[in-house]
Amino acid sequence: RVKSEGRNGWCFYHAEMDAVVQQRLEMEHELRSALADQQFELHFQPLLNLDSGEVVSFEALLRWKHPHRGMVSPGEFIPVAEDSGLIGPIGDWVLREACRQAAQWPSPWRVAVNISPLQFRHGSLPRLVKEALKATGLDPRRLELEITESVLLADEKHNLKVLNTLRDMGVRIAMDDFGTGYSSLSYLRAFPFDKIKIDQSFVRDLPHDQNALSIIRAITDMAEALGVHITAEGVETEAQMDALKAMNCREAQGYLIGRPAAAIEAYAEPKAARARA
Ligand code: C2E
Ligand code: MG
Ligand code: MG
Ligand code: MG
Repeated sequence: RVKSEGRNGWCFYHAEMDAVVQQRLEMEHELRSALADQQFELHFQPLLNLDSGEVVSFEALLRWKHPHRGMVSPGEFIPVAEDSGLIGPIGDWVLREACRQAAQWPSPWRVAVNISPLQFRHGSLPRLVKEALKATGLDPRRLELEITESVLLADEKHNLKVLNTLRDMGVRIAMDDFGTGYSSLSYLRAFPFDKIKIDQSFVRDLPHDQNALSIIRAITDMAEALGVHITAEGVETEAQMDALKAMNCREAQGYLIGRPAAAIEAYAEPKAARARA
């Protein structure tokens, strides 16, 4: 193939491709044993209610402590886990571990778990959620599942059924990364989400970018009309926080409030004590 580039050109291309494929295969191989070797860990990031100033829930974020490479970010390994089907067992571990830990927390705190599109397609998600809740004793109302728009892209009918089944169990459903997909609005019509998480790419441009301001204002207005909760993701500065408050955004998540961490006990202390610390 690609004869015109000559033998060397082809070889170079071939070698590069080989390296990419090789890396992926290696990661897949390592992921396979990562669960058994207990290399996964959950970190939790707080979501703050801006009206009350209280932490209301924590998002569980998966961390892979690789024996040689240190922390590998989920942006790197989740796609590999999805392609290889390993997202099934890994996702199930995340669900159980998140529920297990949340069951020990003070009772108003909820836990949010990210669910990959592939976990939906298997159809066993409601059963896995039911089992996780039963095994850990977590109240279903304290569990929130975060899905992205792409979940509804494929096989919409089946996925809507899954969402409704989960909803009927008392579990909350949040739409993650809102505004980054192609038809965010149509999904809001298709399913009554409990919460919309405004993607951090919009928040990043606050408070000066007029387009970001207009879009977030439109989302918060619409959410209020629909009775949907809104969370702004990726809040890093006071100026962003002030802009969000001015637009009646009621909930926020980001480094300004707290970074994802393995331990969350500090948030249980009275606010005054935390401020002094
Ligand atoms: P996400 O669900 O949208 O999670 C938010 C991401 O933004 C997290 O990245 C979080 O650490 C990061 N973040 C939070 N606050 C800030 C901030 O103020 N500034 C900036 N720049 N970033 C902030 P993380 O932990 O690397 O996760 C990336 C993505 O990987 C997640 O995006 C989610 O889609 C996926 N993911 C993470 N854990 C899981 C999991 O257990 N299962 C599945 N299926 N996906 C997961
Ligand atoms: Mg999320
Ligand atoms: Mg997000
Ligand atoms: Mg994201």
